[in-house]
Amino acid sequence: MSAAPVNLLEFDLDGLAAFCERLGEKRFRATQLFRWIHQRGASDFSQMSDLAKSLRGKLEGAAQVTALPVITQNISQDGTVKWLFDVGAGDAVEAVFIPEDDRGTLCISSQAGCAVGCRFCSTGHQGFSRNLTTGEILAQLWFAEHFLRKHLGVSERVISNVVMMGMGEPLQNYSALVPALRVMLDDHGYGMSRRRVTVSTSGVVPMMDRLGQDCPVALAVSLHAPNDALRDKLVPLNRKYPLAELMEACQRYLAHAPRDFITFEYCMLDGVNDQPEHARELIALIERYRTDGVWCKLNLIPFNPFPASGLKRSPAPQVSAFAKLLLDAGLVTTVRKTRGDDIDAACGQLAGDVKDRTRVTQRIALQRQVPLQVIAAPPGGD
Ligand code: SAH
Ligand code: SF4
Repeated sequence: MSAAPVNLLEFDLDGLAAFCERLGEKRFRATQLFRWIHQRGASDFSQMSDLAKSLRGKLEGAAQVTALPVITQNISQDGTVKWLFDVGAGDAVEAVFIPEDDRGTLCISSQAGCAVGCRFCSTGHQGFSRNLTTGEILAQLWFAEHFLRKHLGVSERVISNVVMMGMGEPLQNYSALVPALRVMLDDHGYGMSRRRVTVSTSGVVPMMDRLGQDCPVALAVSLHAPNDALRDKLVPLNRKYPLAELMEACQRYLAHAPRDFITFEYCMLDGVNDQPEHARELIALIERYRTDGVWCKLNLIPFNPFPASGLKRSPAPQVSAFAKLLLDAGLVTTVRKTRGDDIDAACGQLAGDVKDRTRVTQRIALQRQVPLQVIAAPPGGD
C-alpha cells in the first residue's frame, strides 16, 4: 500500500525544497510550487500551469494541500468573520478576521485548547487536547486569505497582519510555530513584515529567548497583573516564570529586535486588577526596566465575559481612569476595541471545541473556589 500523501502546508520554503529534492527536483521548482500554494491559493496540481509536467505527475498521489474542514462561519455586523475548523478527533479550533481601515488582521490558533489555564480565559477553561501542526496553523491563514479574496472580489492581499492570539499558547508549541511564522514572512509566501506578525504569550521565558534568536517577530506579553501574588492566581504559569524573570526576558528579546517594543496585554477585571493601586504598581514595575526610548506599550483589554468565569468586566469609567494613570506616567497606553462580540469572536471568547485530555479543567474548577480579592500595592508607592 502506498503512504498517505504529504501535506505541503507543513513545510516552510526550505522544507519544501528538501521535499522536492527527494523527488529529484531543483529548488526553483519548490519556489514555484510554494508560490502557487500560498500566493495564489492553488491546491490542484493540474492547475499549476508553469510547473513542469513531470513534477506535477510526481506530486499527484504523493502530496496534497490539506485544507481544514470548516464547521461554521459567522460574519459579524462589524465585518469580523469567525471560522470554526475541524482538526479531527472531536477537536475544533477558531480563527477570526478583523477588518480595519488600514489593515486586515487574522487571529489564529496554535493549539486545540490550552494547558496554561488562565482564570479569565474561555480557552483555558476548556482544557488541553493537543498541539496543532505547522500545516494546521497555516491552513487557517491559507483558507482565510483565499476565501476573503474571492468573497470580496479582490486579487490583492487581504490579510496584512497575523496575530497568534487565538486558542492556545504558541510558545508551548514552538517547533510547529516557527516554520509557520517563516511562511508568513517569506516573500514567496505571504510576504509579511516582521512587525506585522505578532506572537502573544503568557510568558514562557525560555521560548521567548529562542524566538528572539530564531524569528524575532512582534511580541505581545499577557501581563494582567502588576505583582506575583495576583499574577500567580490569574496566569498560573507565573509560578514557574515570575514577573522579574519575565521582564528580563522581555529586555533580552528587544536586544534581538532593535527599535521594537513589547506590547503588554492587560485584561481588565472588575475589582480584581483594575484599581488605582494596581496602576501605580504597574507603572513602578515598568519603570524598573526603563530604557532610553519607549520599550513597551500597554494594551488594556476589557474582559469579555463567558459563562462559568465568575468574573466581571471593569466598567468603562474604571478602564478610562486606569488608562489615564498610565498615560499621565508617560506610558503609551491603548484600550482595545471589542470587535465581533455579537458572534463571540472577541478576545478570550474563542473556545472552539476541545476534548480535554489533561486535568486542566479540574484544576481550574478548584481555582474558581478561591476568591480573587483586590491585592493592594505595598505602602510607600504614591
Ligand atoms: N496564549 C496566548 C495567546 C492567546 S490569548 C496568551 O495568553 O497571550 C490572547 C489574548 O487574549 C491574551 O492576552 C489573553 O490574556 C486575552 N484574553 C484571554 N481571555 C480573555 C477574556 N475573557 N477577555 C479578554 N481578553 C482575554
Ligand atoms: Fe492559554 Fe492564553 Fe488562554 Fe491563558 S490566556 S489559558 S495562555 S490561551
